Parts: sequence; C-alpha cells; structure tokens
Amino acid sequence: MQMEEMIPRPPSVWLPQTVEEAWQYKETYGVDAEFVAGGTFIQVKREKLGILAPNLISLHLISALQGIEETIEGTITVGANVTLSQCLQHPLFIEGAPVVAKAISTIGAPAIRNQGTLGGNIVYGIGDTLPALLALEATVTTYNASGYSTVPLEEYLHDVDSAMLVAVHIPIVLESKNQYWFYEKVGRREAFVPSSVTVAMCLTWDDTKTFQFVRLIVSGSDHPPQRLQASQSVIEASAMGTLDLEQVKTCLHSDITFSSSTFSSGSYLEMVATNLFYHQFKELIQSS
Ligand SMILES: Cc1cc2nc3c(=O)[nH]c(=O)nc-3n(C[C@H](O)[C@H](O)[C@H](O)COP(=O)(O)OP(=O)(O)OC[C@H]3O[C@@H](n4cnc5c(N)ncnc54)[C@H](O)[C@@H]3O)c2cc1C
Repeated sequence: MQMEEMIPRPPSVWLPQTVEEAWQYKETYGVDAEFVAGGTFIQVKREKLGILAPNLISLHLISALQGIEETIEGTITVGANVTLSQCLQHPLFIEGAPVVAKAISTIGAPAIRNQGTLGGNIVYGIGDTLPALLALEATVTTYNASGYSTVPLEEYLHDVDSAMLVAVHIPIVLESKNQYWFYEKVGRREAFVPSSVTVAMCLTWDDTKTFQFVRLIVSGSDHPPQRLQASQSVIEASAMGTLDLEQVKTCLHSDITFSSSTFSSGSYLEMVATNLFYHQFKELIQSS
C-alpha cells in the first residue's frame, strides 16, 4: 500500500466572512460539508465515531453571528456563534433569562463553555439549553437560499439541515410574584456528565392564582426535547387551589416517554422526570 493511501486526507477548511457566503459553501458541498462553530461536538464525533466531513465551514469570521443585545420587543437576541461562557457572564442573561443561564451552567466544564457556542448546542439536537429555550418559547433567525426567516425554535428543530442558524431570540422573563421557573439536569455524577433526565418548566398565573402560561419540557439520555402537551393542557386555566396533584402526576407519567439507555431503563427515567415536575407543583401549591 502506498504511504499516501494510509494517511487520511485532511479536510478543506473554508473561512467565509458573511452568512450568505457560508451558506453558499454549504450548497456547493452539500452532505460533504459541515459548519464549525466552537468545534467541541465535532471533535467528539471525530474521536468517538471517526466521522469528519471533508469540508469544514468555519463560522469564526462572521461578525453577524456575534453579539448579545436587548430588542424593543422585549427579547434577548444572541448571535449563533456567541460562546456559552459569554452568555453566562452577560447581565442580560442573568437578569432576563435565568432559566437559560442555569441550563448553561450545567454544560461541561469551563473549557467547553469557553469554546462551545449557543448555536452549536442547539443544532447538536440534544443540547442542555434546549429544554430551557423551549420552555420560554424562544424563536430563531435562520438563513438559506430563500433568505432570512424567523421561526419558533421548535419548528427549526424538526429540520436543522434546512437552514443555517443565525440568531436566537429569548423572551425576557423578569422576576415577578406571578411566575415560576425550574430547570434540573440529573446525571450519573454531580458534574461534567451528559444528562440522564433534564426537565424545564415556566409558569405564570394571574391575580386569582389561575395558571395562564404553562410550559413543561423534558429531555435527556439521547432523548430529544419533548413538550408535555397533555399535562400542560390539564394545568393551564386551572386554579392553584383546585389543582388535583394526583391527576397531574398520572398525566405527567403517561405524557413522558423515554427509551432505555445503557445505564437506566426507560421506566426509571420516566419516573425520575415525573417526580421532578410533581414535586415542583406540590411545593408551589403548598407555598402559595
Ligand atoms: C467533554 C465534553 C463535555 C460536554 N458536555 C456537554 C453537556 O454537559 N451538555 C451539552 O449540552 N453538551 C455538552 N457537550 C457537547 C458540546 O460541546 C456542546 O453542546 C456545545 O455547545 C456545542 O457547541 P459548539 O459550538 O462546539 O458546536 P460545534 O461542534 O461547532 O457544532 C455542533 C453542530 O452544530 C452545527 N452548527 C454549529 N453552528 C451552526 C450554525 N450557526 N448553523 C447551523 N449549524 C451549526 C455543526 O455543523 C455541528 O453539526 C460536551 C462536549 C464535550 C467535548
């Protein structure tokens, strides 16, 4: 065998300066090309599965993918290439999106958060920010040959290959007595582990203590985020004082579906997720 045949060919690295140019490279090379933001997940894929696209489209030089700002509509707009650490250190996140800040603080070690981006965490498909972003009903701006569009994050997640992620818009939730949020990631160790079960919830209620906005999301263990639609409907428009907690628990349990993983059975993971939500509702109602 010739020496050249034994050494794998290094990928071509493209360095576009605009979103439009980056998408042009993607269209040119199709499935043989992959965007690279922080590269932390791409590195895992290369090391564990030996997969590396022959064309890597680096997003580093695209200034339009940077920046965190507050918009007049009351959202935090974050460029897709902003790192997780930049989000975590930004006052807008701490004050306006504490549930997302909490989610980010559970991701990897500081070195991963310094390199990994919010965009990469979203497109990766099972990133830990997703339950929090979906609970807040975040939207995203994307770009493809048809131009720019802004759609619910939930919709983009159905087909992330259809467009490049440009920015994420997170509704600002200011601290108030009529709202509650919760995020919990359960893993096999205290820190630096993939999630076995992650739950996120955001709730608001009116002055008569009737629930108005109820968003319950569960993910974990290679399980893409799932919205608990039936449970949300049972709770929405119910008054806190009359909420039947046992009915909520039964509904949550039948709503949540997990497959078994290497370390835990699906039924165990379903029970953990159900109990995490149930105890939050129980405490909220008892303290109200
Ligand atoms: C040791 C270690 C621990 C980790 N722990 C966690 C953890 O606890 N929780 C967690 O959620 N993740 C974890 N990860 C996974 C990963 O590092 C993070 O999810 C990170 O946020 C990915 O961001 P990135 O910028 O590095 O993505 P990249 O690796 O650059 O990209 C990830 C995917 O997104 C695509 N992509 C990136 N940007 C765009 C864009 N703008 N438009 C379209 N597609 C795009 C890429 O093509 C690729 O398919 C860990 C990784 C490592 C190595």
